[in-house]
Amino acid sequence: MHELAICQGLIREVECVARAHHARAAAKICVSVGALCGIDPQQLARTFSIARAGTLADGAELEIESVGVRIRCPVCDLESEVAPNALVCARCGGWRVQLVRGEELLLRSVELELEVNEQAPRAPAAC
Ligand SMILES: [Zn+2]
Repeated sequence: MHELAICQGLIREVECVARAHHARAAAKICVSVGALCGIDPQQLARTFSIARAGTLADGAELEIESVGVRIRCPVCDLESEVAPNALVCARCGGWRVQLVRGEELLLRSVELELEVNEQAPRAPAAC
């Protein structure tokens, strides 16, 4: 299952960030999903809610930003937004286009819940 492996990778990354900041959990996770990366955002959200159980991302809100497809035409040098199933230049109709955006799956940001402990002095962050 494609989405599960992706979610596990995402959660590992989030846990890594959380540990580096001595956080007790992740509160919110923002990801960008390109229209061509082969992932259904709804499926990703469903899988995430299962995969996060028992991790530092358990209880975190997942915000998915869908990213459209953008291409650049090397013939007429035009950059345009196109549909994922129509990768042709909007001006000259050329199909030997370069993909500028749309294939990515990115962890954009993580909001952390930090450990609150006013008695002990806070240890400096490991990173
Ligand atoms: Zn063109």
